[in-house]
Amino acid sequence: MEPRLAEILSGVRGRRGRVVVLTGAGISAESGIPTFRGAEGYWVVGSRNYMPQEMATREMFDRAPEEVWRWYLHRFGIVRGAEPNGGHRALVTLEQALGDRFTLVTQNIDGLHRRAGSRRVLAIHGDAAWVRCADACGAGLLDLPDLGVRGNDALTAAERRKLACPRCGGWLRPHVLWFDEYYDEENYRMDSALRAAGEADLLLVVGTSGATNLPMQIGRLVYLRGAALVDVNPEENPFAEMASRAERGFFARGSACERLPDIVAALV
Ligand SMILES: [Zn+2]
Repeated sequence: MEPRLAEILSGVRGRRGRVVVLTGAGISAESGIPTFRGAEGYWVVGSRNYMPQEMATREMFDRAPEEVWRWYLHRFGIVRGAEPNGGHRALVTLEQALGDRFTLVTQNIDGLHRRAGSRRVLAIHGDAAWVRCADACGAGLLDLPDLGVRGNDALTAAERRKLACPRCGGWLRPHVLWFDEYYDEENYRMDSALRAAGEADLLLVVGTSGATNLPMQIGRLVYLRGAALVDVNPEENPFAEMASRAERGFFARGSACERLPDIVAALV
């Protein structure tokens, strides 16, 4: 490990500081999950190709709920076959050592942190394992109905029934943040994530490009407070730049599986 990085981590360890880890698509890519922002995310409706940024919206759901559900069921099918990797497991080790001094904030909806054994997880973009009423009738969070392994066919009547809210009979929706919606505390734990960032002695950013605004807000907050900021990523990105400018910052170039085991070992 680079001496500068070892020095930063040793300081956090010595102070028994709080650690916030922010993860993005990069950590899941090593489990074979595509980002869905590229060609993997396209969906054909009629004769038109739709981008993920068009499919994952309230507007599209209100207009064509069945199409949006079929697209999600297709994506969730890919996610279901994936397994947590060494990066996810390293963060479980860190949580077990730090207990309440640890918070994991993830942009990933694939549930791989939870399945690996992480418990203190704020899923700021939601979690594919759950659904909720599209009309917010008060039914709460429900398990994603099991529709088995399906192709891209139209929904059957039985499938439509499974995707109906048990309380009001309207559509259920995936428990995920859509592009035309806002972060909140109730569904997406925004306040909790910002509070954790406000108390962190170290922010460890893993595999995220900073394309969405709450993660950038978290990074800026930590940067301005002068807390330690370490970015793990194979590519340059806004967090790497922030970490390079921070007094106690470091850009650890590499993937989660390559870098996290050593970083965690230096913190516990
Ligand atoms: Zn309902």
